[in-house]
Amino acid sequence: MLEIKGIAVSNGIAIANAYCLVEPDLTFDKLTITDIEAEKLRFKEIVSKTKIELEAIREAAEKKFGHDKAEIFSAHLLVLQDPEMLNAIDVQLSEGVNAEFALQETTTMFIELFESMDNEYMQERAADIRDVAKRLLANLLGIELPDYSRLSKDVIIVADDLTPSMTAQLDKTHVKGFVTNIGGRTSHSAILARTMEIPAVVGTKIATTDIPHGAKIILDGTKGTVLLDANEEIIAEYLLAQEEQAAESAMFQQFVTAESISADGFHVELAGNIGKPEDVDNILANGGDGIGLFRTEFLYMDRQELPSEEEQYIAYKTVLEKMGQKPTVVRTLDIGGDKELPYLKLEPEMNPFLGHRAIRLCLEQQDIFRTQLRALLRASVYGNLKIMFPMIATLDEFRKAKALLEEEKEKLLREGIEVSREIEIGMMVEIPSAALIADLFAKEADFLSIGTNDLIQYTLAADRMNEKVAYLYQPFHPAILRLVKMVIDAGHANGKWVGMCGEMAGDEIAIPILLALGLDEFSMSASSILRARAQISDLSKLELTQHLDKILSLSTSLEVEQYMTKLLNTNN
Ligand code: PEP
Ligand code: MG
Repeated sequence: MLEIKGIAVSNGIAIANAYCLVEPDLTFDKLTITDIEAEKLRFKEIVSKTKIELEAIREAAEKKFGHDKAEIFSAHLLVLQDPEMLNAIDVQLSEGVNAEFALQETTTMFIELFESMDNEYMQERAADIRDVAKRLLANLLGIELPDYSRLSKDVIIVADDLTPSMTAQLDKTHVKGFVTNIGGRTSHSAILARTMEIPAVVGTKIATTDIPHGAKIILDGTKGTVLLDANEEIIAEYLLAQEEQAAESAMFQQFVTAESISADGFHVELAGNIGKPEDVDNILANGGDGIGLFRTEFLYMDRQELPSEEEQYIAYKTVLEKMGQKPTVVRTLDIGGDKELPYLKLEPEMNPFLGHRAIRLCLEQQDIFRTQLRALLRASVYGNLKIMFPMIATLDEFRKAKALLEEEKEKLLREGIEVSREIEIGMMVEIPSAALIADLFAKEADFLSIGTNDLIQYTLAADRMNEKVAYLYQPFHPAILRLVKMVIDAGHANGKWVGMCGEMAGDEIAIPILLALGLDEFSMSASSILRARAQISDLSKLELTQHLDKILSLSTSLEVEQYMTKLLNTNN
């Protein structure tokens, strides 16, 4: 049996066959063909086969993801029937070369031509031709292209990496988990795995080289392991563990309607993190007290252009209506880092996580920002909306963002459009400079929400995506605990509530510390809410407060973890 170790990012056990998402080898030789007509017929048949394939994909995409996504495949079908391109291939074939060569020569020429045009539409056509050419070539060579959005059997996806948009396309009915070579606990594919409640292990370095396509594997998203060639006995053990986990989840169900309250009567808010309006259902099913983070950038992904004000308005209104009077914190566009929007054509940067992203980009490309603000303001009358800005580093940025919001609000009111008068405006504290001057921010913000995913990476200078520096990604590093305490104290000293929407808020070891520090709102993946509520119902805040000085005096992350593990085990 082979055990591959990685970083555990989404709890649960999955047992299924591996589905390897590796780029297929589409190399071929140039051949001289004597029976030209037969070769032309072969190509014609492949075009027909590809057309049937694309139509089926378009139909499945339409059903699963809606019309917008399906349109990509309509564009592909147009390319496939483009007479100019088909003629050019025919001319090549008449010269006695094989279809693979004729296809590549012709499509490369078209791609280069379209790419050289200074026209966004034409450049997109180049991308369509590239996709169609790849599909045709694979069919000519008899190679099956991976298509993880249309699976017919249960699988565990094995990939080098999964981009956030690839993860969002995964078909949850059949994708039982995923394992990747790269990534860390707070890379966005990991966060999405938790949102989708599928087990995942990332950062294994060797998954794609060591796991053969189709092999039966056991993925343990809690321990961070992948087992290959396990015997019947081991499989039986894991099946049992899977049942135990299901029983535990069933036990947590009793907390769905319970209050979020500690054993000694202190209330907190246990909210959920979402990326799409449809994620709200999961938060409500898990008894979330609110939404602590709506990562709106996911509305902008996986499409060809920016979402319109109307589209965004409908998305925000849907979320607010579903949440009713429960607080709903919507974060404005946080693009950049590992979250890309190809259609914005942003220049590549040396250090994307330190670059022109999130609020920095929004303050510069104000039309994008204003559209979002208007959509949010218009939707505000449908629920309990709170707006927060991401990646705030300076007071100036926060003031500018607030001023733009105010301007859009005034405009709407002048146009006679109703806007809620009770929207709280807050900010993410995820850059050390903001944490260090949280006292100044707390005077001007209605609330602060600590984004530990970024706060940790920026404080320890350790890329959250890079498994090689994962050892430095330490939520319990004394520097992080001090910063978190500073922010909570600063908020409270100014009468403001403080939340946390980074992954640390749902961590079993962190929860008691955060409760003792007085955190008001904990926002986490839907799947963590009930476990957190059960845990908090067993904790005494006053008792924990007595341990705070000791916890804050410890000098390493490990010491804190060991101290807390001991404390929690003694209390059990
Ligand atoms: C964070 O940085 O903690 C956070 C919640 O934002 P994101 O993970 O989307 O960067
Ligand atoms: Mg962040």
